[in-house]
Amino acid sequence: MLQQVNGHILGSDAQTEEPLKGELQEFLDGETLLHQLDDLTKVNPVTLETVLRCLQARYTIDTFYTNAGCTLVALNPFKPVPQLYSPELMREYHTAPQPQKLKPHVFTVGEQTYRNVKSLIEPVNQSIVVSGESGAGKTWTSRCLMKFYAVVASSPVSWESYKVAERIEQRILNSNPVMEAFGNACTLRNNNSSRFGKFIQLQLNRAQQMTGAAVQTYLLEKTRVACQASSERNFHIFYQICKGASADERLQWHLPEGATFSWLPNPERTLEEDCFDVTREAMLHLGISTLTQNNIFKVLAGLLHLGNMQFADSEDEGQPCQLMDYATCAVSTSASLLWLPEDTLLETLRIRTIRAGKRQQQVFQKPCSRAECDTRRDCLAKLIYARLFDWLVSVINSSICADPNSWTAFIGLLDVYGFESFPDNSLEQLCINYANEKLQQHFVAHYLRAQQEEYAVEGLEWSFVNYQDNQGCLDLIEGSPISICSLINEECRLNRPSSAAQLQTRIETALAGSPCLGQNKLSWEPSFIVVHYAGPVSYHTAGLVEKNKDPIPPELTTLLQQSQDPLLKVLFPTNPKEKSQEEPSVQSRAPMLTVVSKFKASLEQLLQVLHSTTPHYIRCIKPNSQGQAQTFVREEVLSQLEACGLVETIHISAAGFPIRVSHQNFVERYSLLRRLRPRASPGPHGPSPAKAHSEGRPHTEETTLQLRLQDILHTLPAVTWSAATPG
Ligand code: ADP
Ligand code: MG
Repeated sequence: MLQQVNGHILGSDAQTEEPLKGELQEFLDGETLLHQLDDLTKVNPVTLETVLRCLQARYTIDTFYTNAGCTLVALNPFKPVPQLYSPELMREYHTAPQPQKLKPHVFTVGEQTYRNVKSLIEPVNQSIVVSGESGAGKTWTSRCLMKFYAVVASSPVSWESYKVAERIEQRILNSNPVMEAFGNACTLRNNNSSRFGKFIQLQLNRAQQMTGAAVQTYLLEKTRVACQASSERNFHIFYQICKGASADERLQWHLPEGATFSWLPNPERTLEEDCFDVTREAMLHLGISTLTQNNIFKVLAGLLHLGNMQFADSEDEGQPCQLMDYATCAVSTSASLLWLPEDTLLETLRIRTIRAGKRQQQVFQKPCSRAECDTRRDCLAKLIYARLFDWLVSVINSSICADPNSWTAFIGLLDVYGFESFPDNSLEQLCINYANEKLQQHFVAHYLRAQQEEYAVEGLEWSFVNYQDNQGCLDLIEGSPISICSLINEECRLNRPSSAAQLQTRIETALAGSPCLGQNKLSWEPSFIVVHYAGPVSYHTAGLVEKNKDPIPPELTTLLQQSQDPLLKVLFPTNPKEKSQEEPSVQSRAPMLTVVSKFKASLEQLLQVLHSTTPHYIRCIKPNSQGQAQTFVREEVLSQLEACGLVETIHISAAGFPIRVSHQNFVERYSLLRRLRPRASPGPHGPSPAKAHSEGRPHTEETTLQLRLQDILHTLPAVTWSAATPG
């Protein structure tokens, strides 16, 4: 049975009255006991400070997992803890009669999710949403869950799959190193940062065995191919080929030892670049032959040489830019690796084709400025890399997908970017934070619903007080008819010259009524503020529209369609039916497919899937930004607790019945108070110390204490207890 014990009583008193003294103070603070609290809803009082203290106390004794109601909080240990992830421990959680009674662990979530699918007559799909900021451990956690399911839900051994590497779960696990090699990079915040979002659906048959999986990716940060922030790096795979290629391959791919590439900054060693063999092996097991792999690596080497094509300013405005002297061989090498005609490659980058007239029949050619040449070169690389990544994902999917008739339920694992707020935020952050708002809304809706159902089962009467609903923020971002997204899309559609300041004014004017829109008075640059649930973020308007268009000059696609390279032929087919969506026909009246509209569509699809599942949440927390073991930086953890909405979760809990205590635990904990009951008291129903106080007796420390205790004891008779409720 649930009881709204004293989250509020003690919490509010503690702030307004003098601190309690002696034994009781120590008991209530319970610093020494804090580490034993394996559920943050048991922290008493429930405040951000006590939650933080509890997490810190647990972290100090190497306890990295803590429950927070329906959420699991996972602190990144930043050190290997092999005993925490051993197959033996997996089995222990898998075979435990009640895994939730064991210590909080990612395996508890894994096992409960797995049992939820199993325990019902009709299978119900499940999902696990893993969130947290970069480097907090999301990818690690989802990998860990995949390994857990590979053990507990292993597929039946058939004659064809007798070799471990060919088993479906092994193939699913093999998708990780491949996707990480191509989609992860070393950033300031994480040496192995995923630069894309991922939803993997693990498919189970009626016997609870994994028969296959499907991966969906979101928003690959393709600009990284051609542009890396200082101290950051390109995708791992580029470093892997440069470091891991054999002498023979070096010759084929024109990658002599010690060669430097402008798109390969910070080549000092990291562990990830040593993984070329692992990547190749995993690709092989996913069905990507050595021949195809070599083709992929050759194309990637071609991109590295493309990056070395540096243009000089044109002396005569009417003439195309020249290449820097040292860059001429980059053109021929890149052209040969991409199997493109060298002249056409160079001309396409240097000369723009403009179509005019009613039917676009008039064609003009205009030499590009140096900056335009650079943009076109970068665009070519991004185009190839993004198509290659999508193609890889589709190959992985065809290798791990199950026959649709072979599975009846799935467990979805979502590993997406966490909430982001930098000094300079743009369209990428807007999309990421928009996704996080959507997920937060889903979380709140689900959490409230789950609580409501539980209270109904317990027969409790209650009504919710206000909780923070982020619908207002979502209306501002995606609402209809006018929102930030619609305004940015409108600018793209109208294709009119528009300055960053004009866009700012349009947003401010059209959305002036939104309480979630603010002005950044401190910024010199045109910007607007969105008040997200996790905090306000200022977005610069400069470049928003252009990024949203993500324009790909049609000449670039045409150029790539001329390639004789087998892989590029697959990526850029000439068959008009397979023409990319990124290239809207000029005459087409269909709505323009902008970055935002594509992202919105994929997000809606994802949420539909999540809504059809029972969700579970894991919030990953980074104890410090240096990636150091045994270091708990309170301010950093605090800001993550706020940003990941844990504060919200606690508020929502406070709106209902935040503390769930079994009768036995309650008696154990509060029996101490009976000792302090005032001797003269006529019992819990008699005049309270509050009354005594109002009758004019002096307000001593003792009466203050009694007042509090009496408050607690007064609640006791009204409570009916059920010993069966877990503490
Ligand atoms: P995210 O995906 O949230 O950006 P990662 O999952 O890549 O973060 O984690 C960053 C790094 O933190 C990992 O490369 C790993 O070194 C370390 N790490 C994360 N979780 C754990 C864990 N449970 N045990 C040990 N190390 C971890
Ligand atoms: Mg990651």
